[in-house]
Amino acid sequence: MAAILQGIPTDAQITKIEYEGPRIALYTSKPRFLMENSERISKLVGIIKKRIVVRTAESIRKPEAEARKMIAEYVPEEAGLQGTIFDTATGEVSIEAKRPWLLQRNSKEFRHADVTEKIGWRLRIRKATTIQSRTMQVINATLKQSATERSRQLKQVGDEIFRPRLAQRTEVSLYTLGGFGQVGRSCMLLSTSESKILIDCGINPGARSAADAYPRLDSLNLTMDNLDAVVIGHAHLDHTGFLPVLCKYGYRGPIYCTEPTLPMMNLIQLDAIKVAAAQGRVPIYAERDVKQVMRQAITLPYDTVTDISPDIKLVLANAGHILGSALCHFHIGNGEHNFVYSGDIKFGKSILFEAADYRFPRAETLMIESTYGLREDIQPSRQEVESAFINSVNNALADGGKVLIPIPAVGRAQEIMMVIDHYMKSGEMIEAPVFTEGMISEASGIHESYPEYLARELKQKILETDDNPFDSEYFTNIEHADDREEALRDDSPCIILATSGMLEGGPVLEFFKNIAPHKQNKLLFVSYQVNGTMGRRVLDGARQVSMSGRTGKVEVVNINCSVEKLDGFSGHSDYNQLMAFVQRLRPKLRRVLVNHGERKKSESFVTSIRRAYRLPAHNPQIQEAIKLF
Ligand SMILES: [Zn+2]
Repeated sequence: MAAILQGIPTDAQITKIEYEGPRIALYTSKPRFLMENSERISKLVGIIKKRIVVRTAESIRKPEAEARKMIAEYVPEEAGLQGTIFDTATGEVSIEAKRPWLLQRNSKEFRHADVTEKIGWRLRIRKATTIQSRTMQVINATLKQSATERSRQLKQVGDEIFRPRLAQRTEVSLYTLGGFGQVGRSCMLLSTSESKILIDCGINPGARSAADAYPRLDSLNLTMDNLDAVVIGHAHLDHTGFLPVLCKYGYRGPIYCTEPTLPMMNLIQLDAIKVAAAQGRVPIYAERDVKQVMRQAITLPYDTVTDISPDIKLVLANAGHILGSALCHFHIGNGEHNFVYSGDIKFGKSILFEAADYRFPRAETLMIESTYGLREDIQPSRQEVESAFINSVNNALADGGKVLIPIPAVGRAQEIMMVIDHYMKSGEMIEAPVFTEGMISEASGIHESYPEYLARELKQKILETDDNPFDSEYFTNIEHADDREEALRDDSPCIILATSGMLEGGPVLEFFKNIAPHKQNKLLFVSYQVNGTMGRRVLDGARQVSMSGRTGKVEVVNINCSVEKLDGFSGHSDYNQLMAFVQRLRPKLRRVLVNHGERKKSESFVTSIRRAYRLPAHNPQIQEAIKLF
């Protein structure tokens, strides 16, 4: 603290210095000075090696209503102001605008330092989305309500992170809790002489018994207040589905994830409650536990070094898998050991995301997924799958047919929408209306809210032009069951994207009943069909299936339409991409651990790594302790 005060001239008028979770917050009553002399802060960060944020003193903040009015006056009309969200915990106001590129930090008509000086709030400029996300609204409201409580918690978290180190030596070990020799319930504990960090906390949705469904936290002698932090790589249920249960049983510490992972996991965790109820199961957590997760979340941008305990620094980096998905890099002690957890990765570029990042200065241990770990798990290239997709869709549309694509709401749906928009605009795909139903548009709204997490070209389109593919006129979202008529009208070719992806419930079933009996239509699968699902039966050639209708009585559906499946739109790396990723890190590595794959895939991938790169590799079982350093 003394170093900070020495490094900053009295002109800055610092009123308070306080921990704010993993950062140090400097409160100033004259924000202009530090905003215009940001090099002073950078220099200070270099000296104290801690993240610093500049906050405005509460005393200079204008009341919200007044500040909102002033902002409306200052924002140039062409920027298209849509809304303002005030966060009293940080003294930041998010300004949502249609053309955010007109509101950059030093834009002539809207200099941030000038505006902040007048209203007393720091500015955050965001792109106003065309699709309103209900999830984002609820999160904003919840965080606002709990602002005081969160400020207090953040201060406490800071005290814990920056407590003095007690141990002399650095020791690092890993204990496996789930997601080894299987896909599902990813979870592990990283322990050092100073701290305990839980990494991912998922469930196994395919499990038959409770003993196989949840991470084996019961096998550890661990109380919730023993944990320093939870780190979440990405939002999927097999990585986050057990997290609300931790909060239910009293975990009150920080949960680190990227900014978009918070709304994404919120959406997915709440949906799981609905699905459980619909299937007559008792949900393992309630809505209030999901809210508690929100309150404890500390979101981090990619590529920023953050202290999360006295001896661990965390960097989250793009994993290319779904929105906000991250590789987690743990820098332990004084860099004695560096552990990289891949999470689910796509080491290949897609329209939505850049390929997974691999530029870590140091990485002695890598833990990598092995969903496609077998040598023969090779997928067609992006180009191949895209042209196959165009052909397949064009054939059906040219015959006057409809194309039904059963799809998971998160990730794949947005990717397919971007592909369709791109090729219809370029003229390679026949133009036709595209209907979406289910959670798809909600998930799209979240994607649109975080353009900085999308692939470069897509981000640029959204942030700097009026050609925003999420706002494409090809797309119509169906809000209510009664609005399906237009999509189902005879003789009007169209494309329908609906959940769920494996024909196991959701609005896709209603479309399926109407579309399957007619020869000119097409059922097109773009995601994996698990054994035992209706999607798999249809794909394997069933010509007739029975399903329960709206009134509960059984209906028989004849399948006369064509059925096709396309591989290559996966959010996971195929075998070659996994191997290429290990090769990139090869010079730094001392050991590779393999998780997230069926046992024979993980085993085979371990053999491949040993042979090709002469590296010690191992696929742990669940409940194994591994000494890393
Ligand atoms: Zn995943």
